[in-house]
Amino acid sequence: MMSRYAVFGNPIAHSKSPLIHRSFAEQLKDSLSYEARLAPVDDFAAGWAEFVAEGGQGANVTMPFKEQAFRLVDVLSPRARRAGAVNTLMLGKTGQLYGDTTDGVGLTRDLERLEAPLKGARILILGAGGAVRGVLEPLLAKQPAALVIANRTAAKASALAEDFADLTGQGCLLSGGSYAAIEGEFDLVINGTSASLGGELPPLPDSLFSPQALAYDMMYAAEPTVFMRWASERGARVEDGLGMLVEQAAESYFLWRHKRPETGPVADMLRRMLAEG
Ligand code: NDP
Repeated sequence: MMSRYAVFGNPIAHSKSPLIHRSFAEQLKDSLSYEARLAPVDDFAAGWAEFVAEGGQGANVTMPFKEQAFRLVDVLSPRARRAGAVNTLMLGKTGQLYGDTTDGVGLTRDLERLEAPLKGARILILGAGGAVRGVLEPLLAKQPAALVIANRTAAKASALAEDFADLTGQGCLLSGGSYAAIEGEFDLVINGTSASLGGELPPLPDSLFSPQALAYDMMYAAEPTVFMRWASERGARVEDGLGMLVEQAAESYFLWRHKRPETGPVADMLRRMLAEG
């Protein structure tokens, strides 16, 4: 019987995940089906149970279900426990439900592809929501010299810095606060807010970037986001989150299928499709 996978969200119609995973399967000559499924906003468990009854074996989980999926699973990976969210579900042979998160490793793989400054670098991350919580552990594992979290609600940024203080290892300065408190230049600035969705830009100081800095927006769109345009005007190299999306998908695929797809051609295809509208 063909293995069945899905992505759950609400809304879900515009998800790129079915296209990405079907492309991976085609590339690897793997036999599986992958569909987009809508679940009730307040009852992800019902949507998942229905899928399992139909033979579903694993799924990706996107907004707004990452926390509900976290609560539903029987076994959490250490990184999902840290992130407080699950984006990948796997049904074990004995019916146990495993939960993992691949968003963080998706970001760091994409940053490595871009040869972004990581080890020994000064990194600024904007936002303190679910996406930022999910990427802090893998970013800290790259041993930056400093990691500063800035957020509109400053208390959320300082709480995150406290939660992850035990992972700073040797000499990484981890701090969180308001945009007004940002000081100094950064080699890597990651926008993990949803401000770009509404065409907004957090209030950032003008002299934010070191020479050759990379500005990375976790959001992606056909056109550069307002953050990318702002950063580009100030001399930074810019990139959006399309690569992160494809990399997190590849890591989920690996968890399910124990095969690693090539991500470059799939990211190129998505980029072409975005440009064509
Ligand atoms: P959350 O709702 O959990 O957090 C939103 C964050 O954005 C908060 O820090 C919030 O600040 C901040 N924010 C929202 N609007 C503004 C604004 N106008 N000005 C300044 N700050 C603002 O969202 P997520 O963390 O889940 O997602 C954040 C972004 O990351 C989204 O754009 C999402 O698409 C993207 N993402 C991309 C992925 C990829 O694979 N490329 C994967 C996951 C997420 P406050 O706390 O003050 O409200």
